[in-house]
Amino acid sequence: MRALFAAGILALSAALVAPDASAWCRTSTVRPAPGECSDMGTPLMWCSACVGLSVNVEGSLDIPLETVRTEAAAAAARWRDAPCPGELMDPPMFELRVIDDTRVFSGINHGGTNANAVWFNSLWRADALHRPGTIAITIVSFDRRTGEILDADVELNQNTDQNPNGFVFSTGMPAPDTADLPTILTHEFGHALGLGHSDQDRAVMWPTAGMGEQRITLNTDDAEGVCDIYALDRRPSAQCDPPGTTQRPELTCNDTPYGGFAPSADGGRAIGGCSVLPGSTGRSRPWMTALLAAGAIVASRRRWRLR
Ligand SMILES: [Zn+2]
Repeated sequence: MRALFAAGILALSAALVAPDASAWCRTSTVRPAPGECSDMGTPLMWCSACVGLSVNVEGSLDIPLETVRTEAAAAAARWRDAPCPGELMDPPMFELRVIDDTRVFSGINHGGTNANAVWFNSLWRADALHRPGTIAITIVSFDRRTGEILDADVELNQNTDQNPNGFVFSTGMPAPDTADLPTILTHEFGHALGLGHSDQDRAVMWPTAGMGEQRITLNTDDAEGVCDIYALDRRPSAQCDPPGTTQRPELTCNDTPYGGFAPSADGGRAIGGCSVLPGSTGRSRPWMTALLAAGAIVASRRRWRLR
C-alpha cells in the first residue's frame, strides 16, 4: 500500500513538473552555444518604447523598394500587436517603426550617427556570421553591462550573378524556389527585438524556413516571448535605468537610432567588440563595449536557414 501511495506521489510530481510548453528564447549578453539558449548573462532589450528601422535605398533586385518598406512595416506591426497572454491583454509596449531610408549597412558607430538598416547583401562572403545557406541574419549591438540593445541590422542574402548561392525573395503569394520576404522579415525582427530561436516548428522564431513557405503569424510561443520582454507590467524596466537612478524615468517613444539618424554611411560603423576601447573619446563610455548577437534563418534541405 505504501509503495502504491509513493507511486501516486511520484506520478503527481511528474504532472506538476510537466514539460514547460514555452519554447521561446531570449538572447543575452552571453552568446549561447549553437542551437542552444543562453541562461547566463543579462537578457537583451530596447529601453525606449520604440525605435526606427530604415530600408537601405539599394533595395532588392527582386522587389520594388516601396514594397520592401511596406513589408517591413507589416512585419514590425505583427510583433507590436502580439497578444500578451494571461491577464495582460495589452500589446507589447514596444514598436519597431519604419522611418526614412538610409545608405547605411550593418554595424554601429559609437562616435556618431546610426541607422537600424534592413538591406539586401549581394556579396555574402562566408565568415562566422555569414554562413552559407543562410537566408538572412540580424546583427544586434548592445551594451554589455545592461543588455540594452543599441542597434540592430537585418541582412538578406540576395541572389545575384556575383552571389549565386543567395536567395530570390518574393512577396504576395509565396512562390516556389523563393524566400518569402514577409516570413523572413518577421523572423529577423524577432531577433531585432531580443528573441532567439524557438524549438517549436510552428513558431515564427523556428530557425528554418522552406522555399515558398509562408509563416508570418505569431503563434502563442512567439507572443509569450515578446511579451516576456515588453509586456506592460515589465515597462519601464529597471534594467534600463541609468546608473544612480532613484526615480525611474517615464517610458517614452523616441524612434531616433542610437546617436542620431544616419542617412548615409560615414565609414564609422564597425561590427563587433572592437569599436570602443577604454579611454576613447566622444560619447562612448569605456564599459559600453558593443558586443554582437546574431540571429539567422537558415535552410535545411527544403527549408532554408534563418538567423
Ligand atoms: Zn533566426
